[in-house]
Amino acid sequence: MSKKGCLVIISGFSGAGKGTVVRELTTRYDNYALSISATTRAPRQGEENGREYFFKTREEFEELIRQDALYEYAQYVSNFYGTPKAYVQQQLDAGKDVILEIEVQGALNVKAKNPEALLLFVTPPSAQELKRRLIGRGTETLEVINERMARASEEALLMDRYDYLIINDKLEECTETIHQLVQREHLRMSANLDMVEKIKKELEEMKGE
Ligand code: ADP
Ligand code: 5GP
Repeated sequence: MSKKGCLVIISGFSGAGKGTVVRELTTRYDNYALSISATTRAPRQGEENGREYFFKTREEFEELIRQDALYEYAQYVSNFYGTPKAYVQQQLDAGKDVILEIEVQGALNVKAKNPEALLLFVTPPSAQELKRRLIGRGTETLEVINERMARASEEALLMDRYDYLIINDKLEECTETIHQLVQREHLRMSANLDMVEKIKKELEEMKGE
């Protein structure tokens, strides 16, 4: 019986390790499809168009909004980020667990539209460790790092709207915890209504035997 996949939203402060954890999940397991977002932010060194993001001009991004091609979008610091709609739907229909690695506002918009989405918030064990990771990654200037730390304070105000808090201390444990949570979602009654109907029907049919 074909089953739809689970929509998994992973959010967390910039530098929490979301990208690292998602890479680990998709390397270890083949049930995941990672949605690639569109953004107006400039590529970082080593990033490729169509791999980390679809890099767009502001005008191109506005055109995607006009065409209703985005499942959700939000502004983060001074750039826009959005999830292309078609890929998400295609992969869910194919039974893949689709991961959206998106910021808080977009995540809450998705949850409002789709209450069955699984909302996971990833955090390092402390704020000090967060700053250490952002500095250690070496991809942003100190000015941008400070902007992202300020944004983290704002995001923390909405953490309690998520389904689960995931502490990314040891990468392996964090990856396994997420995988287990997703596996558990597949057991939800609401995700198994086809099976419920099948059993009901079989039991009805056996009544006369
Ligand atoms: P995000 O995608 O949340 O912005 P990244 O995945 O880019 O974060 O991780 C930020 C930095 O932290 C990277 O240099 C990464 O190697 C490091 N990092 C990720 N997870 C861990 C961890 N569990 N322990 C230590 N460092 C980590
Ligand atoms: P970064 O510039 O570090 O790649 O991403 C900045 C923030 O934008 C991160 O919190 C990331 O999760 C978020 N983000 C990436 N893609 C999307 C998206 O499609 N929609 C939303 N709402 N946020 C996104």
